[in-house]
Amino acid sequence: MDSNKLRKKVDRKLRKHLHIINKETGVVCSEIPTLNLGICNAGQINGLTEEIIVEHFSEYGPLERIVLIPGKSCAFMRYKDIPSAVKAFDATNTQLKIAQDGKPIYLAYVETVPETSSEKIYDRLPPGLQIIENFITEEEEATLLSLCHFETSGGMKHRQVKHYGYEFRYDINNVDKNKPLPEKIPTECGFLWDRLSFNFRPDQLTINHYKPGQGIPSHVDTHSAFEDPILSLSLNAPVVMEFKKNETICVLLPRRSLAIISGESRYAWSHGIVPRKYDFYYTEDGCSSFKRDTRISFTFRKVLKGECNCSYKLNCDSQNKITIESALATKLENQHVHDVYEDIAGHFSETRHKPWPNVLNFVEKLRVGSVLVDVGCGNGKYFGHNSQIIELGTDRSLKLNELCKERGFEVFNGNCLSLPLKDNTADAVISIAVIHHLRRSPDIRVGQATGEE
Ligand SMILES: [Zn+2]
Repeated sequence: MDSNKLRKKVDRKLRKHLHIINKETGVVCSEIPTLNLGICNAGQINGLTEEIIVEHFSEYGPLERIVLIPGKSCAFMRYKDIPSAVKAFDATNTQLKIAQDGKPIYLAYVETVPETSSEKIYDRLPPGLQIIENFITEEEEATLLSLCHFETSGGMKHRQVKHYGYEFRYDINNVDKNKPLPEKIPTECGFLWDRLSFNFRPDQLTINHYKPGQGIPSHVDTHSAFEDPILSLSLNAPVVMEFKKNETICVLLPRRSLAIISGESRYAWSHGIVPRKYDFYYTEDGCSSFKRDTRISFTFRKVLKGECNCSYKLNCDSQNKITIESALATKLENQHVHDVYEDIAGHFSETRHKPWPNVLNFVEKLRVGSVLVDVGCGNGKYFGHNSQIIELGTDRSLKLNELCKERGFEVFNGNCLSLPLKDNTADAVISIAVIHHLRRSPDIRVGQATGEE
């Protein structure tokens, strides 16, 4: 194909994409260069992430904003100046292959980038969270790092963990308060408490070793397990931690900083680390990013004697018995999943189904503490979008069960024609693309959220 024909073909495709984008987002394209670039043929639904955009576009100049719209196959970015946008446009348009199936992207200058409600927040911290930078010196960091020896070789899939004082049990999300460990918090950590402006003597330490690409699912530290506050010291490398409660706040935890997670941020916000290799966060100057390195975190906590008496009752396992449902989820998992794992062999390659936006919307709106059951959950694509609910999935495919399990989701093997669930187990049920197989039980309310308030 000669170059003229090729250009016409590209123009035709571009016009088609721009027409769709304009209809879906209202964004108008510009004939002359602007600060704003639109990627017309790739977006969140094709697996494009802020991280990928930063990786490929920050080399042309400082990015001020990145906008990905859930469920859409377009994305937008704004540079600080027009020359940077022009440089990026000329270097990547129809050449950079980050669209679906390794196809090249089509770019256009646009008048504005769309506003989204999922905009990441950077100008404030969750209430009660405090980050103290340079809390320890490099020498002190080296001393603390010498306390823990982790296997550094081999491809560890999950982060490595070591406990002192009490073992944190991930199966019950609590400590066994009657079984303290012989190994207490190393005395070398003692200097840290003198630097705090309040009196705090922790008796439990968890050391986490995160390699690039590893993370921790979003969670609220069990109220009845620990007192307030929780301290997290970041060693060897920074990371971005996401705090969530109706909104997401991305918080940079610099190397050698101390995070004091207290009050509302401890009791009512969940926190987690997205498993990825590049980190991305907003600052006053736009967005910033870095490649992750091995991070060691020291999390210091004080085991709570008795029950929690906080004022965040909805999130409180001591005061709100709805969380008993999570114990049920664990029990079901043990009953129905454990045995079948023995039979699973071979490698399973993930199919790339994307969630339907309307279903996602439903799941995201479920109230705090709701128990959601996904019948025919597949690879668990509707899980992990709402940290405030309890999720339980079932699918008849063992391979898909395993995949869910690997992704950290509670799932059991089952046939949707005879669900092994007790009455009134769920507040909400979804069954996507399998609903015609499901015999409805009058006690399970399909498609309706009924969380307690
Ligand atoms: Zn509580």
